[in-house]
Amino acid sequence: MVQTSPLDRQAILQRARSFCEPFRIGNGEGFHLAQVNPSETLHLDRHDKKTAEAVLAEGVALLSELQDRLYAQDRWALLLIFQAMDAAGKDGTIKHVMSGINPQGCQVFSFKAPSAVDLDHDYLWRANQCLPERGRIGIFNRSYYEETLVVRVHPELLARQSLPPQPVADDLWTQRFHDIRHYESYLANNGVVVRKFFLHLSRDEQKRRFLKRLENPSKNWKFSASDIKERAHWSSYMHAYEEMIRHTASNTAPWFVVPADNKWFTRLVVAAAIIDTLDDTLDQLNLHYPVVSDSAREALAAAHQQLLAE
Ligand code: ATP
Ligand code: MG
Repeated sequence: MVQTSPLDRQAILQRARSFCEPFRIGNGEGFHLAQVNPSETLHLDRHDKKTAEAVLAEGVALLSELQDRLYAQDRWALLLIFQAMDAAGKDGTIKHVMSGINPQGCQVFSFKAPSAVDLDHDYLWRANQCLPERGRIGIFNRSYYEETLVVRVHPELLARQSLPPQPVADDLWTQRFHDIRHYESYLANNGVVVRKFFLHLSRDEQKRRFLKRLENPSKNWKFSASDIKERAHWSSYMHAYEEMIRHTASNTAPWFVVPADNKWFTRLVVAAAIIDTLDDTLDQLNLHYPVVSDSAREALAAAHQQLLAE
């Protein structure tokens, strides 16, 4: 683990805040997706890409240090949720941002279409079993939010859920948003800090990335026929995402709407948001190495003496 000096640390933390704050939605009222441009890079342009990479590397080093303390303290867990259209870069972002992290302190789960066993339970059931343990960072690559996205865009999926008679029309989604808000507030009350990322990709950039996957044999495996099918529902998905963010952004569990047309910028913003969260956690949650009690210190001294005497 690379130790950052206090001076560097202050500078990195400030920079991290400046990169993530513009994209943080803590109150979704009146939110429109159009407020965030998928190709936004703040004041950085392509020539600053190297600078951005350096900032990301510094950030990753600090992140590893903060994670080490989270792990040692063993009280709080951090849950990072990633949602996006296909090819928005979820996998790559997770890989880059978490590259400096101790694998023991990190758990990643990908949520695909639910199994028969999953469907025999309420929709939060499978997610609940994958929550990070105290001291860990948990990553959800897709999540229970699919229940307000793909299921909303394809109502036939609801029919498979054997639910009791449903509220009509939009009331079902209102109910799900309400339940999710409460669930996340419950998690916060129990020491799970939740941060949610929507990687906001433009339709044009998705087309470019799909074409690359189709034209480059080494990328073919990333393409699936269903990707094109979902693309055809683009505007329904955007509506569902907008609604989801409006109704489930909160100060305890904010959404970050991250511009995703430039991968280097996406990674920077996500790393910044995680660092900023852990830094907040340092203050609010008093994240620190466990304090050794007087009696434990005496026991350590005795063990020390015993070893020296051997
Ligand atoms: P990704 O598309 O996330 O990169 P992948 O291509 O490896 O991953 P897929 O087989 O495409 O995996 O699985 C993800 C699919 O599962 C998505 O289309 C998503 O909408 C669907 N899915 C996830 N959760 C649910 C859910 N609760 N109900 C229905 N479908 C879901
Ligand atoms: Mg897929």
